[in-house]
Amino acid sequence: AELQLLRAEKLSMTGKLARTIAHEVRNPLTNLSLALEQLKDEIDEQVEDADLYFTIISRNTERIGKLISDLLNSSKPKELQLEKQALNPLVREALDLVRDRLHLQSMSLVEGYADDLPDLSLDTDQLKIALTNLFINAIEAMKEEQGQLKVATYWFEDKICLEIGDNGQGISKVDQHQLFEPFFTGKKEGTGLGLTTVQNIVHSHQGSITMDSELGEGTTFYIYFDPEL
Ligand code: ADP
Ligand code: MG
Repeated sequence: AELQLLRAEKLSMTGKLARTIAHEVRNPLTNLSLALEQLKDEIDEQVEDADLYFTIISRNTERIGKLISDLLNSSKPKELQLEKQALNPLVREALDLVRDRLHLQSMSLVEGYADDLPDLSLDTDQLKIALTNLFINAIEAMKEEQGQLKVATYWFEDKICLEIGDNGQGISKVDQHQLFEPFFTGKKEGTGLGLTTVQNIVHSHQGSITMDSELGEGTTFYIYFDPEL
């Protein structure tokens, strides 16, 4: 019961309270970073190890900043800006945001798009946020040179499926159970809010998301959309 309470608390944290806190923290954080930059130029020569201290300070302000923007993204958007549109071009646009990164790490990309999909009611910005989160998780799970990101759309029964797969490290069965929980992360610098965001966005489109993963083999996420909506 205690665990359930904790979960409820965590979930409400990603709601309105999170948004408020995030907004409130962002401004002072920006001021802090600006002041730090100013100070840096003046102090560098006078203080021993100044560089080290500045690195620590800026790494931590960056970390708070990332947490804040993830929090803002993860809380449900007030209202979706839905637009009837084709899914495939939107997926390709989202891929554009990570193409350089894939290229830099010598990872390959395999795309397969069904050409008989009806237009869907989608919020372009929100869906791009969701997809980028999945792409970046995939990239972070894969090895340089060997990584292969697979993106496909197709009909699955009466639903439209958007599949995002990688051949990365995979996720253990235990971790799979907590994957979508806010703040669950397996990364040193992770916020654990990416998949919470993805799930919120998919659900607000009345879609569903499932995944399948094998340790050492890779992970695939499946997002299903109802073409009638
Ligand atoms: P974060 O990326 O900040 O850790 P996420 O919610 O995006 O938070 O992901 C939560 C955790 O799920 C990750 O830390 C990682 O351990 C695991 N994960 C997510 N996607 C993948 C993937 N494609 N392959 C392997 N592990 C993954
Ligand atoms: Mg992530």
